[in-house]
Amino acid sequence: MDISKRRCGDCGERRLARKNVRSDFKSPWRDYPLAFVTCDLNLWVCGNCKNYVLVGGDAENIDSAMDKSVRDQASQFIDIIRSKTGLTSGQVAELVGVSPQHLSSIHSGKARPSFSIWNFLKVMAIDPVSLVKQANPALDIVHENMLLRA
Ligand SMILES: [Zn+2]
Repeated sequence: MDISKRRCGDCGERRLARKNVRSDFKSPWRDYPLAFVTCDLNLWVCGNCKNYVLVGGDAENIDSAMDKSVRDQASQFIDIIRSKTGLTSGQVAELVGVSPQHLSSIHSGKARPSFSIWNFLKVMAIDPVSLVKQANPALDIVHENMLLRA
C-alpha cells in the first residue's frame, strides 16, 4: 500500500503521519460506549484535520489495543480499590456482585469484564472509601486503619 497516495477521507489532505495514539485514541468498542487506548497503538493521522486514516490491519490492531487496555485498566482498578480500602479480593467481588473466581480472572487479565463491571470498578476506584462505607456502613474503614491490617 502506497501511503503517499492515500488521502484523508474527511478533508482530502495527503499529509498523513504515523503516530502513537496511546492515551489519545478513544472510540465506542463492543459493549463499551467509549473505550480508551492506554497501550501503544500506531495509526495514520491526517496532518490537517487530525482525523485517523485506517489502513490495512489497523482495524484489528485497534481491536486488540482496546481489548488489552480495558483488561489492564480493570486490573488496575482492582489494585487501587484494594490498596485504598484494605478489602480482600473476596470482599471486592462481593461488592461488585461477581464470583471471586471471576474477579480473580479479571485481575489477572484472563477475563475481559463487561462494560457494566468495568464501569463499576472504575467508579469504585475513584472513591473506594466512601463507596465501601455506603455499601456496608458497619465496615468502619475510616477509624480502623485497614491498610495496616492488610
Ligand atoms: Zn484530514
